[in-house]
Amino acid sequence: MKSIKKDIINIPTSLLAKNVETVFASNIEAEKYIDKKNRYAKKAVRKNLRKLYPNCAYCEDSLNNLYPEIEHYRPKSIYYWFAYSWDNFLYSCSKCNRIKSNKFFIQGTQAEYNNETLQELQISCKKTDEQEKPLVLNPEQFEQTDLDKHFYFKFDGKIYPNTLQMKTTIKVCGLNRIDLINLRIKILNELKHTLSNLYLTFKNDKNIYIKARNTVLDSFEQDIDNNSDFTAWRKFIITNIKAKIN
Ligand SMILES: [Zn+2]
Repeated sequence: MKSIKKDIINIPTSLLAKNVETVFASNIEAEKYIDKKNRYAKKAVRKNLRKLYPNCAYCEDSLNNLYPEIEHYRPKSIYYWFAYSWDNFLYSCSKCNRIKSNKFFIQGTQAEYNNETLQELQISCKKTDEQEKPLVLNPEQFEQTDLDKHFYFKFDGKIYPNTLQMKTTIKVCGLNRIDLINLRIKILNELKHTLSNLYLTFKNDKNIYIKARNTVLDSFEQDIDNNSDFTAWRKFIITNIKAKIN
């Protein structure tokens, strides 16, 4: 999971447009989410989320070739008053979004609607988190160093939890589903394949082999940036392979 820095000062103005105000008021009056097609939220935020999220908020699969979905961190079916809140929107792949669906678990006290205006609810995740102590991790609410403490990987391609929050997140979003394990293993196998080809080519000259191998590993490491998919997994691979050979 990768930390995402959302601009919480410049909230998209479209989220405070008249039509959103109207549908927000209807939800409040009905005390449930009634904008079934979620069309106002979609229109207002998709462009902004696309810039922030090259990869899924939960599984880190690339969103380039998938149809990304607007994910309500706190499900709109329960938290109808957060349906148009800027900091409640994440961007995820359709699989994580569907598996998570309206699941949300907390350790604290359940939040309730408290007569806030649409504007006041735009940035309210931190405050609500303090009360609810959610068990689903939100990549926008953590620095990378804090997120990293919640999980680790093994070479079997699975993600493992260090905390109850991560254990819950893995379960709620299906982060060890077979397609994700296969994608992680594919990245690992491609690197391994490159390294074994190098070995076969240069096995008679150890020095040249080591130089070429280090170049491949350095380049793998340098290619990990904010846009890379599966960054946490890629970092695990490179750290462990480098540790093994040194
Ligand atoms: Zn995903």
